[in-house]
Parts: sequence; structure tokens; C-alpha cells
Amino acid sequence: MLATCQSWLLTTQVEVEEELLSQDLWMALDRTRYMQSAKTFVMVDRPFWRDVDPETGREAMSMTLTDRLTRGTYLFDDGPDRPGVICLSYSWMSDALKMLPHPVQRRVDLALDALSRIYPDVDIRSHVVGEPITVSWENDPYFLGAFKGALPGHYRYNERMYSHFVQRDLPESERGIFLAGDDISFTPAWAEGAVQTALNAVWGIMTHFGGRSAPENPGPGDVFDELRPVRLPD
Ligand SMILES: Cc1cc2nc3c(=O)[nH]c(=O)nc-3n(C[C@H](O)[C@H](O)[C@H](O)COP(=O)(O)OP(=O)(O)OC[C@H]3O[C@@H](n4cnc5c(N)ncnc54)[C@H](O)[C@@H]3O)c2cc1C
Repeated sequence: MLATCQSWLLTTQVEVEEELLSQDLWMALDRTRYMQSAKTFVMVDRPFWRDVDPETGREAMSMTLTDRLTRGTYLFDDGPDRPGVICLSYSWMSDALKMLPHPVQRRVDLALDALSRIYPDVDIRSHVVGEPITVSWENDPYFLGAFKGALPGHYRYNERMYSHFVQRDLPESERGIFLAGDDISFTPAWAEGAVQTALNAVWGIMTHFGGRSAPENPGPGDVFDELRPVRLPD
């Protein structure tokens, strides 16, 4: 079996026999810490941000990073006279928590208010069409957080989770369940780590079923002793 969801879901959404994983690994999975994140999107009639301001000679708006509550605003256009999308706000941690209790329309209003202070002459609201969309990953029962944000001291937990795909030294009863994905990796919040751990898990599953890599193309477990992350003493 391969589990690729956030590891907290193994104790909240999926019924897992405790004996399948060691207590040390359960500790690592449960102590994983996730970052909060929120995004709010609106659709607009056209990419009006490309309109040139006659006074400055510059486009009316651009991608905007700010200390105000929006934190990051991103503009997506699909051609000059076609509808576009604005990610009004992409925030993390405390900034995401500011949005968490609020329904979507309030989030839009808060973001538009902050942007109106940065762009007093741009009427963003008049371009909004359709219904806004918002996501708070920590509020989604199938995520419970956006991505892993390991804390100081969590290296040992990361190492346990990451290395679990090499199962030759595990008791027979703990073999055959594999873990992969963002929070198993050492580079959470980037798809690359999820893909790397998926490749590790594929090697583990192949090996579990008696397969092996071509000798001229060794898999991650074949070179694990050489390249494995350092194991700290307990
Ligand atoms: C806000 C945000 C911004 C990001 N930005 C970037 C970026 O700019 N660049 C980048 O490289 N990466 C980025 N990432 C990270 C990237 O999205 C992840 O690393 C990648 O999606 C992780 O893939 P995954 O397969 O591990 O997990 P996911 O893609 O999270 O997939 C796990 C799936 O499991 C499902 N699931 C949960 N419970 C169950 C269940 N009980 N049964 C069945 N399915 C279940 C979930 O619904 C989900 O679809 C970002 C992530 C977030 C949240």
C-alpha cells in the first residue's frame, strides 16, 4: 500500500492498523508540522492591469508583494480582451490566519481594501465578474495544512519518514506500506520533493514484490547506503 496524503490524515481520515508502523515512525508522522496558507481568487472581465497610466507611462498594476494583508497578489491574463484572473492574496502562517475565520466575500473585501491603498486610482472591483474562490488549506479536512514546515529539531523525524522506503531491516509485520509526498520529503512546498519520494516509494514497492532495477541503472534504494541522509543518534 502506498499512502501519499498528508501524514496527519493517517490518524484523522484513514483507519490504519497501528502495528504497520513503528512507534518511532508514528511519532515522526504525528509531530510533522504544517504551514497554514490561504489564497483568494477573482475572475475579471479583462487584464485591465496592462492599461498604461498616461501620467507614469507604466502599466496600471503589476504583481504586488506587500506587508499589507494581501502579502502576494498575482495577475493572470489570457490575452488582451479575454477574461483574466487575479489571485488577490496568497499568504502563509499568521497572514493566512488573518483570513481563516472569514467567508470568501469578506476576504475579497479585505484584499480589495488593502490593494486600493496601494493603487488608489485603479478600480479593481468594477472589473470583477463571477464568484470568488478561496482556499485555506488548514481548514480542509483532507489537508489540515498547506505543506510541511519542519521546525528546528525535526530533522530526525524527516529522516525517519524519508528513509522508510528501504524496508529490509524492518520486522516482517511493518513491511509493505509505503509513504510518499510533500511531507515525507526534505523539500516540502515544492513538487520536486513529492516526486522524489514517489520514486523512492516505487523502488520500495518494486523491491517488496521481488523486482530489481537494471544493474546499469540503480534505483534509490540500491544506492541508499552510500547516499542516505545522516541518521542522528537518539
Ligand atoms: C498553497 C501552495 C502553494 C504551492 N506552491 C508551489 C510552487 O510554487 N511550486 C512547487 O513546486 N510546489 C508548490 N506547492 C507544493 C506542491 O503543491 C506539493 O509539493 C505537491 O502537490 C505535493 O504532492 P503530493 O502528491 O505529495 O500531495 P497532494 O498533491 O497534496 O495530494 C494528496 C492528495 O491526497 C488526497 N487525500 C487526502 N486524504 C485522502 C483520503 N483519505 N483518501 C484519498 N485521498 C486523500 C488529497 O485530497 C490530495 O488530493 C504548493 C503547495 C501549496 C499548498
